[in-house]
Amino acid sequence: MRVATVPTTASSVVSSQPNEWIRVGVLGFGGLGQAAARVLAPKQEMGLVAAADRDGFVYNANGLDPDQCINAYRTGGSVGDVTAGGQRAENSIGQLIQAATAAEGYFLALPNLPNTFMASVVEQFIEAGWQGVLVDALKRTSAMEQMLALQGRLEEAGITYMTGCGATPGLLTAAAAVAAQSYAEIHSVKITFGVGIANWEAYRATIREDIAHMPDYGVETARAMTDEEVAALLDRTNGILALENMEHADDLMLELAGICDRHQVTVGGVVDTRNPKKPLSTNVKVTGRTFEGKISTHTFTLGDETSMAANVCGPAFGYLKAGRSLHRRGIYGVFTAAEVMPQFVR
Ligand code: NAD
Repeated sequence: MRVATVPTTASSVVSSQPNEWIRVGVLGFGGLGQAAARVLAPKQEMGLVAAADRDGFVYNANGLDPDQCINAYRTGGSVGDVTAGGQRAENSIGQLIQAATAAEGYFLALPNLPNTFMASVVEQFIEAGWQGVLVDALKRTSAMEQMLALQGRLEEAGITYMTGCGATPGLLTAAAAVAAQSYAEIHSVKITFGVGIANWEAYRATIREDIAHMPDYGVETARAMTDEEVAALLDRTNGILALENMEHADDLMLELAGICDRHQVTVGGVVDTRNPKKPLSTNVKVTGRTFEGKISTHTFTLGDETSMAANVCGPAFGYLKAGRSLHRRGIYGVFTAAEVMPQFVR
């Protein structure tokens, strides 16, 4: 049981509070972290107050200017160089957790290399006695299993943890959970993604983690590769990574949501690291049998103009907002993107 006190009256129905401003932080300021800062910039009810990268952090309870943070990161290598509120730090995440007393939630846009890294960051939050909402865009099933194992400790700590809240897992898994409702029985969920990025250096962790899914590679091999080795591999493949039967937590999430067995879920895709145009349209196909005995397939396809960053960061903050509603109601512990609806952030 993850629920401490769930109100049951009609008044407990989650309502949006447009005049509120939710202070959030972003951990990791690479490709997705920077995009996250940009996604938040025009928002009325949520704003960036904290960010950390490997070498520093920045905090300002009144809000951070995304351009200043991005400039500092691109020129000096760290948001710690932002003049107002920036600080270089060795243990940047630990120090930020202590400093950012007003931050109510964080999006963890960190590499999960090694495969246990994200779980170790979450432990830091627990050990610091921090309370609030954490959101990840984890990919691997084995990484999400580590988060689920922290369920009891997160609940005791008063942390609402939203896991698998990117694009896949995330948006597409949630779409599959909705699509499944037409059927009496689910036969398969097939996720196929197409990602186009102009250069791999903008998303180093994403690309390394994708390489880790290739035959003859693994998380440790990919982690140990130098940037030159990654570039040489991409030269050999003409910048393309074609991936199939990936270890993706969409399977675990849909199984936990009671929709199908994890073996019925497959994830694969194509990443073009030299062209921002998607090599194929990202989609999820949910096949099942209706109560009348008809076999059919629902297909949900993302618009080709939407980038990976848009499809990861948008849902991540939508789930952060949903997580905050749960947190305010005293509901703590781990939730996946397939069991909670994201809330739209205005
Ligand atoms: P990146 O390599 O561009 O950036 C990583 C950032 O993390 C950098 O700013 C780096 O300084 C920082 N960092 C590294 N170690 C740190 C530490 N110990 N303390 C503080 N900061 C640290 O990464 P990216 O390509 O933006 O990917 C981020 C994550 O998002 C990856 O794990 C990737 O798998 C995930 N992702 C998920 C989805 C999805 O749909 N679920 C899609 C794309 C990417």
